Amino acid sequence: MSFLTRLNLVRGIPCQDHCTFHRTLAKDSVAPINDIETHTGQKFDKDDYRLARFVDKEKQVNTEFAINLIEEVPPKACKERVVWCDGGSGPEGHPRVYINLDKPGNHSCNYCGLRFYKKDSHHH
Ligand SMILES: [Zn+2]
Repeated sequence: MSFLTRLNLVRGIPCQDHCTFHRTLAKDSVAPINDIETHTGQKFDKDDYRLARFVDKEKQVNTEFAINLIEEVPPKACKERVVWCDGGSGPEGHPRVYINLDKPGNHSCNYCGLRFYKKDSHHH
């Protein structure tokens, strides 16, 4: 069965007069689609035609959320008033940005979320 035929079957579009036969066939030959909910709670209704995107491939949803991953990296203590972050340089990095640490507490990089704070920030 061609991909287009299967796509139309999933969409419920009859291909020919004997579409009842094909619909029955489709239920057996098309693997059930594992529609995983995304972290923002997006999930198609089971009759949604957009599920046809996943007939031949599995739906890939990243279960690792950036906000959780960055939480695993402890804030970095720094002596300087101003630090820079480039996300670790190289292809995984980002343009260098400078971060002012004068105010107490953690300061996050706006690109990658790494956190910095000024050590020994007591005043003389
Ligand atoms: Zn960064």
